[in-house]
Amino acid sequence: MQSEGTNIQKELNPLANAESQFEEAARLLSLDAGLRELIKRPRRVTVASLPVVMDDGRLRVFTGYRVQHSIARGPAKGGFRLHPDVTLEEVEALAAWMTWKCAVVDIPFGGASGGIAVDPEKISRGELERLTRRYTADLSDLFGPDTDVPGPDVNTNEQVMAWMQDTYSTYARRTVMGVVTGKPVIAGGSRGRHEATGRGMLFCVREACKHLGIPLAGARVAVQGFGNVGSIAAQLLAKDGAKIVAATDVKGGAHNPEGLDVERAVDHAKSTGSIAGFPGGRPLTDPVIEYDCDILIPAALENVVTQANADRVRAKIVAEGANGPTTHEADLRLTERRVFVIPDILANSGGVTVSYFEWVQNNMGFYWSEAEVNQRLEQYMVRAFQDVLRISLEYGVNMRVAAFMLGIKRVVDVIQLRGVHA
Ligand code: NAD
Repeated sequence: MQSEGTNIQKELNPLANAESQFEEAARLLSLDAGLRELIKRPRRVTVASLPVVMDDGRLRVFTGYRVQHSIARGPAKGGFRLHPDVTLEEVEALAAWMTWKCAVVDIPFGGASGGIAVDPEKISRGELERLTRRYTADLSDLFGPDTDVPGPDVNTNEQVMAWMQDTYSTYARRTVMGVVTGKPVIAGGSRGRHEATGRGMLFCVREACKHLGIPLAGARVAVQGFGNVGSIAAQLLAKDGAKIVAATDVKGGAHNPEGLDVERAVDHAKSTGSIAGFPGGRPLTDPVIEYDCDILIPAALENVVTQANADRVRAKIVAEGANGPTTHEADLRLTERRVFVIPDILANSGGVTVSYFEWVQNNMGFYWSEAEVNQRLEQYMVRAFQDVLRISLEYGVNMRVAAFMLGIKRVVDVIQLRGVHA
């Protein structure tokens, strides 16, 4: 018998979580055992020791990871994360989620993910640049516009992507635009990419509200994580008339049941480094996951909705900005309680969708206006939401199981057509 401690450890293991989600959908699709094994496993796993000379002259060795989960539908695509808790298992889970996400939103990419176990707050900008460049150089055999295309994730941004592009291009002896996405616009990035994940969340939340008959105007929204995804989703939802009643980041939070002025909150977070202490709200000390709201947006890290707090979630809609914020056990509770969860592989797929647009523009050498990007993004997101909703209603399953079924089926169909090389 497993102890309670072991069960909690399993619940909080993102890879175990990703596998439980996969197994449930694979069973409903009646996938045969061999195929199931093939698409569950990552295609290639790389672990690298990365030496960096620190500012004080000491040599430190960091551990970096890149996992390519699948290239069945196109080049591997996935984020690059810097966080002290990055592990191989986490990166494997994120890579598998990317495969299903790209298939759900129907873009021609496989799935990958990467990262380095490091606290970026504890190293200088110069050290961060040298570490990023070393990672890119050591793994450059993997990367390339037709093979594996990194993009931004937790604690990485346009600047980090520019360093990666430059390092890769130095070895290639030419400027390779499409090797990373999420680059600065002046360095070949796409207009609208910075806001894309948050904007995609807006389109999904709009569709969910329409489906459930909840008016978005006046809906109360609580946001965990006030970085790229959380703060931009909050700004765009507020523009659509929603009230952002609570927002937190790693250092603290602010709340106001009448609604926070989000633009001012973003300015405050930019100038002080945190939303904590925002004068337009009161400090939030209680868990934001349990805040009284209509829509909850977890947009920080994994495993924040667990069986320990799932029954205290008060929102009607949970829109997953983060990857893997809800554990499998919590998901079962939320489904029982009829909380409508827009799963990560759908809700936050706007980022990779505009990354795809960026890659297309890089390949063409012709760049679109922001209005064009946003209009195409809306088409992709609304179509993906409706595809998932249709399966959810047809099979009587929640939106996560439906999204996995859709994503897995699209990958399996290609593998079956292409066959397995002897
Ligand atoms: P980011 O680094 O810009 O922001 C992360 C935010 O989370 C920060 O505000 C940080 O303070 C906060 N945070 C960290 N730990 C927290 C905690 N314990 N409690 C409350 N807040 C906490 O990162 P991001 O790009 O916004 O990514 C956030 C999530 O969205 C991640 O799960 C990422 O994988 C996912 N995601 C990002 C993108 C993208 O395009 N950036 C796309 C899809 C999914």
